[in-house]
Order: sequence, then structure tokens, then C-alpha cells
Amino acid sequence: MRNRGEERTGAFPRQVAPGVHWLAVGRGLLRSNVHFVESGESWVLIDTGAAGSGPTIRGAAAALFGPEACPAAILLTHDHPDHAGSVRELAETWHVPTWLHPDELPLAVGAMAAFHDYANPLDRWVILPMMQLLGTKRADAAIAKGSLKDLVRPLDLRAGPPSLPGWEIIPTPGHTPGHIALFRRGDRVLITGDALLTMDVNSPAGFVAREPRISPPPRFTSWEWPLVTRSLGRLARLQPTLIVSGHGVPMAGAGIADELAGLAERMRGRRSGSTAR
Ligand SMILES: [Zn+2]
Repeated sequence: MRNRGEERTGAFPRQVAPGVHWLAVGRGLLRSNVHFVESGESWVLIDTGAAGSGPTIRGAAAALFGPEACPAAILLTHDHPDHAGSVRELAETWHVPTWLHPDELPLAVGAMAAFHDYANPLDRWVILPMMQLLGTKRADAAIAKGSLKDLVRPLDLRAGPPSLPGWEIIPTPGHTPGHIALFRRGDRVLITGDALLTMDVNSPAGFVAREPRISPPPRFTSWEWPLVTRSLGRLARLQPTLIVSGHGVPMAGAGIADELAGLAERMRGRRSGSTAR
């Protein structure tokens, strides 16, 4: 029988590993995955989807944990609008802290220099020229509006993710400077954010087909490709048995570690090939 949360939002998370629930939210290019991860009596929300995903996520949380459901914390894998778009609405409704990697803070607090220093191709070709057209005052106002300055706290990397004992923070810079993945070594469950995806978004055919495939992050929204390659290698060495990514469906099974290792190897080869030229 469906419960109220499911009826209201039409979205019910799928349990993909013990205590790990997966849900895709949003539409089109901004469709992304969020995760409800249980720990003892509490749970943590990982990523928040695009702007406007708050009601769906709250409905899904209520369906999973009851009408008063409230996480112990919100964790962001990175500060992109399709993952952090609803963080303000959710954090302010639930009154819970939001954490991200210290290296992601300059982007999250809206430091203009950070937008230039950490610009990805989309920023360089579209966003920054548009800001220039807006003029300094309006561009600053737009950035201030999106700032998470009063909301986010820097993770203590040595302490591990707050409220999630048994999980490790895996720094995976490249897609953004302070990107993180989360790994539960006990059963080798890996939540990757956009450090790697389980669908191919770098070819139009792959994007349309949406077939499960371990793939690199979107090139046009990734800051530093050599670091993307290095982080993929780091994730491959974890030999996960379940990959839950920021876009695409969860992938499980003995073969995925090899598939990931193969991708990391090919990317490393391409990188050293291009360095040699
Ligand atoms: Zn992203």
C-alpha cells in the first residue's frame, strides 16, 4: 500500500543497500540523484537536487521515516545547482546543518574570485560572459542571492562525515575543487556524486539512451580534467560493489569494479598520451 508521502509527490526512494535509499529528482538537464542514508536512529540527506526539489525530497523523507522526518545533517557532494539547488529551502525548513568540503567553500559563499579561479567550460563560455553583460552590480547581486555563506560548514576530513559512522569521506577534486564521494568500507558501497556517473552524458546518444554505464562526469561542467582522471583512479582503487552516482541509476555487481578500473585506466592512458604529444 502506498503511504501519504508517496501519494503526494509520486516519488518513493529505492533502497539500494542496507540503509541507503536512492531517489532521482528534477527534470531534463537538471535531473539528479539524492540519497537518504540511515545511521542508527537517524539519517543524513546527501545532495538536494535542483531548485524546487524540496517538496519532493521532504515527501520522500516522510514516506521513508514518517511525517516528522528530519535528517541529522545535509551533506553536499559539491556545490552545483543540480545538487545544491534546494539546500537552503531544506536546511531552513528542517533547521539542520549543511556540510561540504572546505575547498568547496569559496564557490559556495559566492566569492567572485572563486568563480574565475574554478570556472569550468560552461562558466567560461556562457556564465561569466553573461555576468559581464549584466554589469558588476547586478552580477554581484545575483551571486549574493545564490550564496550559501550563512548555511554551510566545512567538513573535518579527519573526523569523517558527521552523523555517518562507518562511512569515509573520499576527496575527489576535479569536477569541482572540493568534490567528495562517500564510501562505506564494510560493504563497499560508494556514493560518487559527479566524480563519476552511471550514465554517459558526454555524448548526445548516451544522454538520450540513459543506459547504465560507468562514465566520467560531464566535461563541460568539470573544472579540472586531469584531477577528474586522478579522482577516478582513486575511486577505482576502492573496488566498490555498489555505485550510486549523481546522475544515472545505481549499479551493483562483481563486474562494476572492473568496469570502473577499465575506465580509469583508459582515461589515464589518454592523459599520458596527450601529455606526451
Ligand atoms: Zn556537478
